[in-house]
Amino acid sequence: MSGSARIAALVLAAGRGERLGHALPKAFVPLAGRTLIEISIRSLAASGVFERIVPVIASADIARFDALALAGIDGLSPPVAGGAERQDSMRAGLAGLSDEIDYVAVHDAARCLVTIEDVRSVVAVALESGAAILGERVKDTIKRVAAGRILETPPREECWAAQTPQVVRRDWLVEAIDSATRAGRQATDDAQLLEWMGHAIAMVEAGAPNPKITRPEDLVLAEALLAMRKNA
Ligand code: C5P
Repeated sequence: MSGSARIAALVLAAGRGERLGHALPKAFVPLAGRTLIEISIRSLAASGVFERIVPVIASADIARFDALALAGIDGLSPPVAGGAERQDSMRAGLAGLSDEIDYVAVHDAARCLVTIEDVRSVVAVALESGAAILGERVKDTIKRVAAGRILETPPREECWAAQTPQVVRRDWLVEAIDSATRAGRQATDDAQLLEWMGHAIAMVEAGAPNPKITRPEDLVLAEALLAMRKNA
């Protein structure tokens, strides 16, 4: 399938981003003169691997999205209205894709620093194996904690932080999300949905920082990283 696989990207941008504490919804916050959603869409488009890029936007923000300067981006579809939880937004985006799409890359608009090289790498591995996500090794020792008490310390060499894009076979994702919905389960990422179905998922190490913009200080860091890349 890999030679001729048809791949779409869903750009999830329907969250409010309360932790950022900004007056604007997170995806519309500016970074170096462009909104996070615009930077994310442009990076995905520049990778040249997607025949379709579908933004998933809160219905209240559709007019705001339409006002962005995104004309001329290859494969950019009209926005789809998202849902209450991330998984609902993903399901809404998936529902709008044609059955002819073989693979879906789900990307958080908040990870606007993803590089073209990392997008291409994770897609290439997914095409070989059915599912792959981008991630990074954790620097800290990770503790599982409940009610303020440490439950366990997983071996650090086995701990990775999951990022996006997460690239999976469309039929696997549709089946996994239907199954999770029937069971009333909410996953915090797409890989978890596939894990519940018993699928093997490859982890691809990101070659460059790909933080999720979450708190105000992340914007400062992201701006510095962008400036560094521009001068490199
Ligand atoms: O809230 P968090 O930063 O974990 O959200 C990750 C991504 O999922 C963000 O890009 C956000 O816009 C998106 N999201 C969504 N629909 C929701 C909640 C989050 O598209 N209901």
